[in-house]
Amino acid sequence: MISDLNSICSVNSRRMKRSAIRECLKLTQRPDIISFAGGLPAPATFPYEDLAEIACEVIRTDGPAALQYSTTEGDTGLREELIKRYKSQNIDVSMDNIIITTASQQSLDLLGRIFIDPGDKVICGLPSYLGGIAAFKTYGAELVGIKFDDKGMRSDILEKTLEEMKEKGEKPKFIYIIPDFQNPAGVTMPEERRKEIVTIAQKYDVLIVEDSPYRELRFEGKTPKTIFEIDGTGQVIMLGTFSKIFVPGFRVGWIVAHPDIIDKFVVAKQSSDLCTSSFVQKITALYMKKGLFEKNLTKIADLYKRKKDVMMDAFEKYMPEGVTWTNPEGGLFLFLYLPEHMDSEKLFMKAVENKVAFVVGTVFHCDGSGKNTMRLNFSYVSEEELIEGVKRLSNVIRAEM
Ligand code: PMP
Repeated sequence: MISDLNSICSVNSRRMKRSAIRECLKLTQRPDIISFAGGLPAPATFPYEDLAEIACEVIRTDGPAALQYSTTEGDTGLREELIKRYKSQNIDVSMDNIIITTASQQSLDLLGRIFIDPGDKVICGLPSYLGGIAAFKTYGAELVGIKFDDKGMRSDILEKTLEEMKEKGEKPKFIYIIPDFQNPAGVTMPEERRKEIVTIAQKYDVLIVEDSPYRELRFEGKTPKTIFEIDGTGQVIMLGTFSKIFVPGFRVGWIVAHPDIIDKFVVAKQSSDLCTSSFVQKITALYMKKGLFEKNLTKIADLYKRKKDVMMDAFEKYMPEGVTWTNPEGGLFLFLYLPEHMDSEKLFMKAVENKVAFVVGTVFHCDGSGKNTMRLNFSYVSEEELIEGVKRLSNVIRAEM
């Protein structure tokens, strides 16, 4: 082994930090701990039998192509299925608007590769998805956080921030938004707020990145239009993924954007992984073509709605006065707010001692705020564990109060 590995690492690699979530997940993987910390889909939603059959069918009927390299843009059949799905939602996209990616985390990394030079500004929510923050920071981005209310990113603060930046001769590379059942807060941005943000982005000529892994997992309420659709001018890059609505292990996602932007992604992806696995793209396409995807999606949403309702009931029953929470209309996560003076970081080890775990809210805030918040996942643990976990957590919070 060489004498000093770190001294030869690149500046980019030295900027990379171990994910705080992965680190605390290690702590929480003890079987006696009820963990609300991860973001794993429930394995019961994975369509094992159907996939066993479809995998065989793909190998038998499409063997050489399924085992060959795919194009960087992605499998035509899969892109056609996505276009059909968007059409059914009245969103008009064509082949040259879509690239398949190795799930959304790659899309976030490619965004960094394409757009970010060290010192560039990227606007994100307070809070925002940790994996997005980490991807952009790797390329040297300086994140500018915009406060949230119960409708998501506040448009008045966004406009003020962009105006101040303009006065200083600065312009952010893009605005990063997770509009549907946001990770981590579980908040959905209503259509009105989306329109305000699009108007502001157009006024200041800034791209929007709409990252929406949970959009299809709606339990209740009306689905707002995508930001992509509201804009309609090509100023929005929309990221999708099969991770939470099908299976995460396939690592398949996609990007919808203006063809000129897709072109940039194709070039950036070529030197990243050449292409996403042909085999899993073809299995996914056939699974959709057979109409199984929609059925399974309904099953997933039903299961997660039940779990979320169980968690809500347990909160009502056990949480001490002064603790509040978001009530998401879909997705996998919600945010818990402790009284202002409390710090969820201080609570974390005590919670683990009491065999329950969560993710501290500060890791989702690029400015270090959010001390009194925590993210809880409700998709993974059983309904019994949801109740028992909330009991344990509420006891820890009460004791600390
Ligand atoms: N964006 C958001 C908002 C997420 O929550 C996640 C995963 N939790 C991702 C992107 C990445 O997902 P994947 O790479 O599995 O598609």
